[in-house]
Amino acid sequence: MQNWKLKYDGLRKEQEGLREALCTLGNGYFATRGAAEESKADGTHYPGTYLQGGYNRLKSRVAGKTIENEDLVNWPNWLHLSFRLEGDKNWFQLEKLQVLNYVQELDISAGILRREMHFIDEQQRETRIISTRLVSMDNPHLAAIKWDFVPVNWSGMVEVRSTLDGSTKNEGVKRYKPLKNQHLKIIKKGEAENAIYILVQTNQSLLYMAQAAKCVIFSKTQKLDVIRKFFRGKEVIGEIFTFHVTLGEQVSIEKTVSLFTSKDDAISEPLNDALKQVNGQADFSVVKRRHSEAWKRLWNKFDIFVNASGNSQLLLRLHIFHLLQTASKLTIGRDVGLPARGWHGEAYRGHIFWDELFIFPILNYRLPDLTRSLLLYRYKRLEEAKKLAKREGYDGAMFPWQSGSNGREESQVVHLNPKSGQWVPDNTYLQRHVNLSIAYNIWQYYEVTADKNFMKFYGAEMLIEIARLFAELASWCDLKKRYEIKGVVGPDEFHTAYPGNDSPGINNNAYTNVMASWLFSHTLKAFDLIGITRREVLKQELQLDDRELEKWKEMGSKLFIPFIEKGIIAQFEGYERLEDFDWEVYRKRYSDIHRLDRILDAEGDSVNRYKASKQADVLMLFYLFSSEQLVQLFKGLGYDFNTSNIPDNINYYATRTSDGSTLSRIVRSWVVARSDRKCAWHCFREALVSDFEDVQGGTTPEGIHLGAMAGTIDIVQRCFTGLEIRNDVLWLNPQLPKEINSLSMKINYRGVWLQLNFSANSCRIELLDEVESDIKIQFKKQSFTISNKSTKVIQYQQN
Ligand code: BGC
Repeated sequence: MQNWKLKYDGLRKEQEGLREALCTLGNGYFATRGAAEESKADGTHYPGTYLQGGYNRLKSRVAGKTIENEDLVNWPNWLHLSFRLEGDKNWFQLEKLQVLNYVQELDISAGILRREMHFIDEQQRETRIISTRLVSMDNPHLAAIKWDFVPVNWSGMVEVRSTLDGSTKNEGVKRYKPLKNQHLKIIKKGEAENAIYILVQTNQSLLYMAQAAKCVIFSKTQKLDVIRKFFRGKEVIGEIFTFHVTLGEQVSIEKTVSLFTSKDDAISEPLNDALKQVNGQADFSVVKRRHSEAWKRLWNKFDIFVNASGNSQLLLRLHIFHLLQTASKLTIGRDVGLPARGWHGEAYRGHIFWDELFIFPILNYRLPDLTRSLLLYRYKRLEEAKKLAKREGYDGAMFPWQSGSNGREESQVVHLNPKSGQWVPDNTYLQRHVNLSIAYNIWQYYEVTADKNFMKFYGAEMLIEIARLFAELASWCDLKKRYEIKGVVGPDEFHTAYPGNDSPGINNNAYTNVMASWLFSHTLKAFDLIGITRREVLKQELQLDDRELEKWKEMGSKLFIPFIEKGIIAQFEGYERLEDFDWEVYRKRYSDIHRLDRILDAEGDSVNRYKASKQADVLMLFYLFSSEQLVQLFKGLGYDFNTSNIPDNINYYATRTSDGSTLSRIVRSWVVARSDRKCAWHCFREALVSDFEDVQGGTTPEGIHLGAMAGTIDIVQRCFTGLEIRNDVLWLNPQLPKEINSLSMKINYRGVWLQLNFSANSCRIELLDEVESDIKIQFKKQSFTISNKSTKVIQYQQN
């Protein structure tokens, strides 16, 4: 099967962490890293099981301060399976044996991780094991492993050991080492019927997780006669099976695991349900079939086919795969958000940032109920966001830069610079633009789905409270005769203060101010469309009056946008006065300058002094808005900005950005897709390989970069095709890079499925469902409608 398999040959100690992250299996409820079954955390391997939204807080003392962090907890390791042969003292450790063959393969189409091991021990006994593993996409609480074990040239007794290991700590990120990491206490462990179980609880959030595991051993199709011995360690529960194997005859060991938590709906108590499920479970082949069928159904909607050479297709699918493992159909209705690093590792502690902005478009067009559910994660934390605003002295709602369990601000106050070993203040929490991305996401969801009920009952209220916040953040400047927003941080995290200034924040970040203007106008639009009765209710509930609405209108047209010179937007006010940065010198001096902030800080300098950005900031505007929309936005603000200014801005900032965030290349590719196809493809490819090749040198093993992964899918989905929904019209304006010969995908537009196939000069649109009213399509300059189950083929020329 081409382009559906991620394959690694041989053992590579230094690559193990990366493979574990990329071979993580998950189902949108929990995820487990692709660590070897027989391994434990030892510096090379790092087994990790993460529950979506499974957080715990601990206090640590660093740099003379007590700080409290909320972490994504590493739960008991259910993977463990090992063996030893007659006469052996030690349990299986592949690295210690003579390895004849090792292949690790992730089958993306069916969600199966396979390890093929062939080895010889000191006594010349040759053995082959094929391990097949899954985390069920059919049943959120289920996972299973099968070992096919073949004694190639020997017969004798074998002991197989299976455990549930509750000794796990959070040790996945080296930088966090000085911080407390013991989150779990063991409540109960033991055996019941033919299963073993463990019940643990987090020591602050008091969340329970129960795991139950059952092993069955077969020879051909017969259940094998085995001696079963049960054992318990301080934090581990396990069982050992002893049996005889015969030369050349395969024995299969099937371990089924069930996992429930106290956050689950429709359960009695986690342990009760875990045991009930594991004992009543069908055998591996049935579990595997149901799981693979569930994946097949997902792929039927989510696959994007690109006809391109190299590994682009494979990596795109890998990205879709990891997105769906983080949030899937099984996530809908659960109280969770979308973490920046997936549930694949401990980096950024499983927190939720603004990265949803890059991810939701994929879900909007395929599983909008999931976006709705994820937006409700924010809605449920609206009260906390209002409290945060109050604490900072404002009305409205201020969603935190980093969000976790209950929506309080989870950003670090200090962070460790691994380059200098120093703890330094972290002011990135001043990224108030996270609120603008939530507002933008609400609007985008509405445009694609026309879900008026969502807007009525949740969306409009969030928009109003965010608009209130920005009306409070903005202050009138008599001199400029404009509103200003001061003391914030823009998307570029390198600029958190003016050089030499003790107080954090910069003034009038252009992205924030333009987006705030967009927010005011779209909040008013949303308020209009929810209907008079709901408007009246909201007015009462939120004590909203016409004066406030009028004020937003006025503010939206009078925000200050800084310019460096005519047509060149300044990233923030005073940006032009910063020093030029000598990129050449630093590129020569350091092999990797993505994280210039850390490098300069370790040199006793500060990146705040320079015209150097970590990531796209001004360019975000060209990413989120079409040129026509942007010109309109500036016109509404009373600035003269036209389409011809866009390339100058792109050039200006492209040469002053280190791409220290993987999100940056997504934006860089997107904004030049129509003007410089070569560069667009180059940046797209850089973004596409960023996790696969771990381009940041060590960050992917700590968790994938979900925003960048989803961003690459979205470049293909919306940017190369010109897909957009505006004013109840589906717009298409394809411009395929020359490296892509054809592209096809399905999208869901307002409840109906469309199949879209593009080649360099033709586009086929097929309506797969019945519709009540025709769909309006704008294809480049042509407008037409398509009706019930019809197909339309359009010939066109690329620009
Ligand atoms: C980026 C942010 C991003 C965060 C989480 C940071 O490195 O600068 O924009 O939200 O990572 O992905």
